[in-house]
Amino acid sequence: MKITNKLGLPQAFVNMAESDYQYKDKQYSVTSLLKGVRETILERRHHNEIEQDVSDMIWLLFGTAVHNILDHQDEGEHEFKEEYLKVKIGEYTLSGRFDLYNAKTKTVTDYKTCSVWKIIFGDYEDWKQQLLLYAYMLKSIGFPVERGEVIAIVKDHSKSQSKRKADYPELPVKKVTFEYTEKDFIDIEKWLEEKFDEIAKAEKLPDDKLPLCSLEERFNDGDKYAVMKKNRKRAMRVLDSKEDAEKWKEQNGGDFIEVRKGEDKKCPDYCRANRFCNYYQQQIKEEKTA
Ligand code: SF4
Repeated sequence: MKITNKLGLPQAFVNMAESDYQYKDKQYSVTSLLKGVRETILERRHHNEIEQDVSDMIWLLFGTAVHNILDHQDEGEHEFKEEYLKVKIGEYTLSGRFDLYNAKTKTVTDYKTCSVWKIIFGDYEDWKQQLLLYAYMLKSIGFPVERGEVIAIVKDHSKSQSKRKADYPELPVKKVTFEYTEKDFIDIEKWLEEKFDEIAKAEKLPDDKLPLCSLEERFNDGDKYAVMKKNRKRAMRVLDSKEDAEKWKEQNGGDFIEVRKGEDKKCPDYCRANRFCNYYQQQIKEEKTA
């Protein structure tokens, strides 16, 4: 990846943004598996052409800085930190680096930086899945894991808002814990096999034939259906399906249903491969001609 420096920030920022990560054939990291297959493959294929400005990577650098500081501290008893693991899954290798493992409590820990909205919404499924993958890897090499734990540092926390709003996180750090069962390990193994099957097929396809990222992978909540009244701008109610909206209109009134198209929030701002994605490029063209 080419790192640019439009603001002329000190070299230290550029050095920190530059990664010496080397893609290896048939090897995928835990974090790459959590993205859509299209995004993962496009990122690998076009790695040397993708450009990112260091000013656009500040929160990524902040996360790295937090990791580096915590990684330089001594571990407690029964703890060991930041190990790079590799596990074979069929003809592929899964790689990943967890932040901390406690052999006594059988807990794997990851440090994260996040926005306050992540905590307010409380949807931690992605973190649960990521920690389960580390847990699976540790277990595969003989270290039992019963739970995953994320230590989340809330980078935009406001003390004053925490005093005013009931649903606002009280502190700028949160511990989120997941308990894992034997079934979780069976399920994740199946998920990994399916994911690598999907990757094996996708690797043979040209860019424009790669399977489209799912709505979830595009951070798209899907189309919404607003029950509207004539001469009124605001919707009476917004629902997830047309059927639900029709039913609600029948019971509660309203003149018509307006379809509100779901928005791909990831593609324009959070996908490094978007320049090479024919789906996204088509979306831009359509928006310009609309
Ligand atoms: S631009 Fe969107 S659809 Fe294309 S690879 Fe990225 S996330 Fe997937």
